[in-house]
Amino acid sequence: MQETGQTGPAPATRVDLGARFEQEFGGAPDGVWQAPGRVNLIGEHTDYNEGFVLPFAIDRTARVAVAVRHDSTVRLLSTYGDQGVVSTILDSLQPGTAKGWTKYPLGVIWALRERGIDVPGLDLLLDSNVPLGAGLSSSHAIECAVITALNDLTGAGLSAQDMVLATQRAENDFVGAPTGIMDQSASLRGSGGHAVFLDCRDQTARLVPFETQPAGLVLLVIDTKVSHSHSDGGYASRRASCELGAEVLGVKALRDVEVADLEEASGLLDEVTFRRVRHVVTENDRVLQTVELLGGPGPSAIGPLLDASHASLRDDFEISCPELDLAVDTSRANGAIGARMTGGGFGGAAIALTPVDAEQKVRDAVVKAFTDAGFAAPEIFTVSPAAGATRIS
Ligand code: ADP
Ligand code: MG
Repeated sequence: MQETGQTGPAPATRVDLGARFEQEFGGAPDGVWQAPGRVNLIGEHTDYNEGFVLPFAIDRTARVAVAVRHDSTVRLLSTYGDQGVVSTILDSLQPGTAKGWTKYPLGVIWALRERGIDVPGLDLLLDSNVPLGAGLSSSHAIECAVITALNDLTGAGLSAQDMVLATQRAENDFVGAPTGIMDQSASLRGSGGHAVFLDCRDQTARLVPFETQPAGLVLLVIDTKVSHSHSDGGYASRRASCELGAEVLGVKALRDVEVADLEEASGLLDEVTFRRVRHVVTENDRVLQTVELLGGPGPSAIGPLLDASHASLRDDFEISCPELDLAVDTSRANGAIGARMTGGGFGGAAIALTPVDAEQKVRDAVVKAFTDAGFAAPEIFTVSPAAGATRIS
């Protein structure tokens, strides 16, 4: 889904946004807002089956400094990339017209105007340290920072749920990406030391305690840097299998199938569709079990569920790839208590829940395994559950 071809980590050091804004736009911003990227702890390919997901907001954020203008001009600049200042006027915003990263902020402005909110002209400077295209939702971090800023600046009084839906509208109808509600729900509703348990049917969200540090754990993200070319077709065909499975089983969505129903389902479905269904049904169950365990013994108890999620994605849903399997297997063999691919599949990142003592060993082993296999060097970093979108100055 990379349209601009930009990948790789955004700069880790942060600019002084206020000073840079003055330098670029010739005045002080009205404020600075930030919104995080996210990692999905567990619950993969369950969202469009009206099931459960458990993402958390991470300690990497997109920040926007914004000043309202007295005309209908919008000027946008990112500290990353070389697109320079992009200038447009509000009335010219149409789906499909924006280029590069500006489609994210412009999509949000467009979606708010579609809701009847009077968005003024503005100058906006973006600085993000969410790695691009690594499955951490750098694009939603931008959208959520922008919508939080505009909600404040216009006094629109939108609830978190309103903002979730408006950013989904921006993504679906302006950017043209058929995404759900998970990423922006995590970014907007996230909270330090918590994951966001989301029911994708009724769209309710509940915070669940998830703190790695007190449990002596770190969560490693291993970005394989690969994006296999069949990912788009693979995604569409998996969705189609899920729809077929629900139809044959006579349910609205696979959310309505229980683990106990699987035996009967196996007699009704062809072999491949059955395995796709089994992934979704067992994955929903694993999310519920994870929520249960996080509320009790805590993160050190969820390793086997992460492992089982990976096995299911690899064997039943068949959306892993050699790089992801190697990252997961090597992490496990070197001390991680649980590991899985995360995100849509066919590349992207794996996560490995790892005792602090084993972190370096896992990192070294994964790097060596990738070198030995002739794979490109992975990017490995830690993330922790952090606060959701907010104004910071
Ligand atoms: P993901 O959201 O998983 O990181 P996407 O392909 O959805 O991957 O979004 C990545 C896109 O978001 C980039 O190609 C770029 O257009 C935009 N983007 C993200 N961060 C920045 C940034 N700091 N500056 C400019 N554009 C960015
Ligand atoms: Mg994205």
